[in-house]
Amino acid sequence: MGGGSGDGHHMGTGERYFDVIVVGVGSMGSAACAHLAARGARVLGLEQFEIPHRHGSHHGHSRMIRQAYYEHPDYVPLLRRAYQLWDELQLRDGGREFFYRTGGIYLGPEEGAIVSGSLGSAREHGLEHQLHDAGEVQRRFPQFRPGGGHLGFFENEAGFLVPELAIMAHAAWAREGGASLLEGEALVSWGAAGSGVEVKTAAGVSYQADHLVFAGGAWSSQLVAGLGVELAVTRQVLAWFEPLGDRGRFAPGRFPCWFVETEPPYGHYGFPVLPGDPGLKVALHRPGEPIAPGQLRTAGLAPREAEIDRLHAVLDEFLPGCAGELSQACTCLYTNSPDGHFVVGHHPEFEQVSVACGFSGHGFKFASVMGEALADLALDGGTELPIGFLGPGRFVG
Ligand SMILES: Cc1cc2nc3c(=O)[nH]c(=O)nc-3n(C[C@H](O)[C@H](O)[C@H](O)COP(=O)(O)OP(=O)(O)OC[C@H]3O[C@@H](n4cnc5c(N)ncnc54)[C@H](O)[C@@H]3O)c2cc1C
Repeated sequence: MGGGSGDGHHMGTGERYFDVIVVGVGSMGSAACAHLAARGARVLGLEQFEIPHRHGSHHGHSRMIRQAYYEHPDYVPLLRRAYQLWDELQLRDGGREFFYRTGGIYLGPEEGAIVSGSLGSAREHGLEHQLHDAGEVQRRFPQFRPGGGHLGFFENEAGFLVPELAIMAHAAWAREGGASLLEGEALVSWGAAGSGVEVKTAAGVSYQADHLVFAGGAWSSQLVAGLGVELAVTRQVLAWFEPLGDRGRFAPGRFPCWFVETEPPYGHYGFPVLPGDPGLKVALHRPGEPIAPGQLRTAGLAPREAEIDRLHAVLDEFLPGCAGELSQACTCLYTNSPDGHFVVGHHPEFEQVSVACGFSGHGFKFASVMGEALADLALDGGTELPIGFLGPGRFVG
């Protein structure tokens, strides 16, 4: 595929022609725009809302990042690169800190998905970790009361990202590199045009490019017909509760990110509390009720009392005496692939189109490395990053 910057026939023809168009400037799209622009490509990013916004998958102040990946050990090399790129982005950005290494404790039965999966990844990739019994967990972190028979897998390198700030940092880096990022500009149709693509926006404007990157999150099914992958969009509830007693005991350094296997193989998780945070955050990592992506914006899909009560009950069970009144709650979207793994690669029919979707509720931590992979796919026609196991082709036929 042609790709690359500065193809002769596109030179000097004005702002309707780009090397690469990126649809969706959210978690993955903002990173793709940044990496593409840094490599000299002329980039157009189309975002239907603002950058960032609260109608998709990237709001809520915190996203966990960890390396001993219980979901599958093949993610670990990508995570190592993601860490490097987040560190570089934070240095380059010079704005507010958005990457916190706080350590992470994962609680569950020894043979459960989370503890045994984390151990498997850590051993296969030589990652530093500690395995604690329940008593050791409580001595190290007196805030926790592990369940009967639970072990605690502790990973020093775990922490969290502030997604809104991370997206702003990628968008700023993209703009510094000359990318045009348009907000409030939805793509409404696209098609192949010769070896490139042509897209049309809701404003009625057409743009052409050598390559198109789809990073549309929950809207991906609508955007990428012919992908051959069923993506299920679900509604997820998150809540913050007023910390009881000394707020300092939940600060980064004294309190880690945590994950408990409450609904095997899924579980509840939470974060340390930063100054200015609404409180102790808790949510369930498990696909929720199916909904259409636009519903989050239009219909009153506010969290229900029973859902909030359940989240409070989880805190009462595993962090007894820590959670007071509800201080905030909202909903957010997961885009689930059939096997819970990401869908990243070339479009099965169109070599000039790449996709990154189906992040199944665990994609944010990878956004930095996905940006690099998407730039490789668009400009070089392939990537040396080990993303082969995520290709959309695995669902075809
Ligand atoms: C409650 C919750 C908790 C999570 N916790 C974690 C966690 O702890 N750790 C972790 O790693 N991950 C976590 N995730 C998952 C992670 O946030 C997502 O996997 C990630 O944000 C998905 O990124 P995306 O770029 O695919 O989607 P988004 O960031 O939503 O970006 C897609 C963008 O495309 C735009 N778009 C769509 N259609 C169009 C169009 N036609 N024209 C123009 N623009 C368009 C959208 O407006 C949106 O901005 C969580 C998700 C949720 C909901």
